[in-house]
Amino acid sequence: MSGKIQFQRTMSGFRVPKRVAMMTPAQIMKKVHGIDVGAWSCPNCNRTLQEEDYPSATCRGCGQATLPRVCNTKGCVNLCQPMTAINDRGAVSYYDPPTFCETCTKQGSRKQRAQWCERVTPADIYSGAIDYEIRKNGRESLDNTIGWWFSEDRFGKVSGQSFVYVYGEHGAGKSVGVMAHAIRGHIKGIISGLWYVSNADVERMARGTYSDDREEKASSGRSFYKCSTTDLLVIDDAGNKQGITRSVRSAYERIIGDRFRRMAPTIVISTRKPFRYRDGFSVFDWLDESMSSQFAMAGIVVEVLPE
Ligand SMILES: [Zn+2]
Ligand SMILES: [Zn+2]
Repeated sequence: MSGKIQFQRTMSGFRVPKRVAMMTPAQIMKKVHGIDVGAWSCPNCNRTLQEEDYPSATCRGCGQATLPRVCNTKGCVNLCQPMTAINDRGAVSYYDPPTFCETCTKQGSRKQRAQWCERVTPADIYSGAIDYEIRKNGRESLDNTIGWWFSEDRFGKVSGQSFVYVYGEHGAGKSVGVMAHAIRGHIKGIISGLWYVSNADVERMARGTYSDDREEKASSGRSFYKCSTTDLLVIDDAGNKQGITRSVRSAYERIIGDRFRRMAPTIVISTRKPFRYRDGFSVFDWLDESMSSQFAMAGIVVEVLPE
């Protein structure tokens, strides 16, 4: 058999695959609209669907109600959720093909968010985060804090602590742990926007600020914009490099200062140890002093111990 689809013109003049042309109108109604001729009646005018109503997408009785449609996912037989639009006659429900049922819509956007996370998170951190087991040795503090901060604290809305600082030695599993929570929250829809940058990204952004290369400069601007507007920002490997340059430091100050000003939820991952500062802890001694004092008021510190 050849893989080519054979087309045929129907009585009503439609050019359709031969397989479809051989179906009865009732079979098509069932396949496309998910309803049975002689059994389905219009919720608007009560007319019972007839075989000769085909091919119409609206009820022949009232001409207003649109016939339901089957979900567009291959193999799914659920009916689509009607969309509601407001026009001059008021609110009208309609089915906008191709569309999906409620279940497929939810799963579809979850899948999209998962794919997005896979693209923006470095591969090693992403795969580790996907396999991450909650409450493994040494990470209880991280799991408890992030779990509480996401759910009860609503990202610092209750406690006023919009910054979480996660520190520990190299290889303790800080990034993977944080990203496991963040990615899962994003896929579930708890976090609508998530953005991840590492120290290397911040260095690139700093270079781009003063670059003569138009594309480099524009890309740096876009990254700063993302860091500023995302719901949850994760800065990994923050300030880890020895001998941080002045331009990189001011890039950090720009990003972190902006998040502080708007009390925007931010998780900073670093190997730099926190130190006592006034009444609390601070972590930003390598940045402007105002950031140290702001963190002492609005930051939570979590230590991740090696496994
Ligand atoms: Zn009707
Ligand atoms: Zn479906």
